[in-house]
Amino acid sequence: MKTQELASQLPEAARVVVGALEDAGFEAWVVGGWVRDALRGLPGHDVDVTTSAPWQETERVLAAAGLAVHETGTAHGTVTAVWHGVPVETTTYRVEGAYSDLRHPDEVRFVTDVREDLARRDFTINAMAFHPERGLLDPFGGEKDLAAGVIRCVGEPARRFGEDALRVLRAVRFAVRMGFSIEPATQAALLAAAPELDHIAQERIGQELDGILASGRVAWALRNEFAVMAAAVPELAPMAGFDQRSTYHAFDVLEHTARVCAAVEEFAGGECPRTLRWAALLHDVAKPATFSLDVAGCGHFFGHPEAGARVARQVMGRMAIPQEVVEGAVALVRLHDWPVDKTTHSVRRMLVELERNAPGQGRALAFQLLDLKRADAMGKARKCWYYATELDGVTRELRRELARGSVLTVRDLAVDGRDIVRACGIAPGPGIGMVQRQLLAAVVAGELENDREALLAWMAVGE
Ligand code: ATP
Ligand code: MG
Repeated sequence: MKTQELASQLPEAARVVVGALEDAGFEAWVVGGWVRDALRGLPGHDVDVTTSAPWQETERVLAAAGLAVHETGTAHGTVTAVWHGVPVETTTYRVEGAYSDLRHPDEVRFVTDVREDLARRDFTINAMAFHPERGLLDPFGGEKDLAAGVIRCVGEPARRFGEDALRVLRAVRFAVRMGFSIEPATQAALLAAAPELDHIAQERIGQELDGILASGRVAWALRNEFAVMAAAVPELAPMAGFDQRSTYHAFDVLEHTARVCAAVEEFAGGECPRTLRWAALLHDVAKPATFSLDVAGCGHFFGHPEAGARVARQVMGRMAIPQEVVEGAVALVRLHDWPVDKTTHSVRRMLVELERNAPGQGRALAFQLLDLKRADAMGKARKCWYYATELDGVTRELRRELARGSVLTVRDLAVDGRDIVRACGIAPGPGIGMVQRQLLAAVVAGELENDREALLAWMAVGE
């Protein structure tokens, strides 16, 4: 029954790949994420196939069956077969040898038994195979753990995290994504192995962290797996237990950050942009480093947004997060404490400043900045919460301003460089930029309409 139900959800491409390999005398199974997600009723996952065929045979058989085959990872026995635009990664049964550098298996050894291949996989829920006729192959109890909502290592946890420390972060990513708990022996081993994350390539850490943020539940990871988060991003470590010594704050920097991360998800209504998620995580990262006490014994954090922006750029940059996401998140961190109010002038300044910090993203970031500020207020002491509602007036003005066709950069001005040369009688060159910036400032300040005649007249007077 269950076999039929799962089989009916299997993409045609996977059925064709498995069928062709088995018709040629090999064995093949669907594995990994597709099986896990299909058992949870989420059959959208891309399909991976594992097979007894050596990759050269896989390539020959699938090409003969009419599929396009690409050699995407033959060192690990992987080729990608494409059937009507749907890719199926197909990998020879394999195990990995010793991991002396905790990163790359020293060798990949091909094997003949699918169970050996399943045994090398990280967690029980990821170590199941499915075949449209033979059904589910689940030697480690993945289905039971899936039903119970548990992340559990395949085999002995300490050894598994010792082989590849990235699994520490993967465990947390799967736990937050699926709302699962981590089985106690797995959790104990994971904590012990967390420091080994500093041997892992930054890009791999970045991918997992991005996945944790994408779950919308990074707050859970900050509260329950902070040792792992701080091992992945050492810059986060000083936030834990950092007393802000301020009547505006009811929590330490870490709990405040967790609250802000949770609140941006709420304010963004389930569609929280990646830039806003990164910014929420890192917005106060420089607070401990910029802390000072005044004579009255109150804590201050002068310059923490600017310092935080530098840290954010460093962290995201070394993790090879896409440049556009870095620019957007850095701009939000830098401006998260910037005063805004519901006047047109203030909203225009916010737009111009965001656009200047992250070209091309000003409009989108303006809404995100207001959500970040709302979330920031809600993560403080009760007396600050009113500010979150006050920002609704700013959002309304922002919508009106954008509907009017807001001017974000000098390129949006109703005159171009040639007009300026003509109107001011100056030679083409840096002078043009100066005039453009003056015009922009005057338009943003509301002293001037962004209207061609008005701008030309203004320049004529200035002459
Ligand atoms: P996602 O939906 O996040 O892509 P996935 O299960 O497909 O989930 P991948 O990282 O794409 O995860 O890896 C595919 C499969 O390979 C996993 O299900 C797991 O069986 C195995 N795997 C991946 N990375 C590791 C690892 N570091 N250690 C052990 N097994 C791994
Ligand atoms: Mg995958």
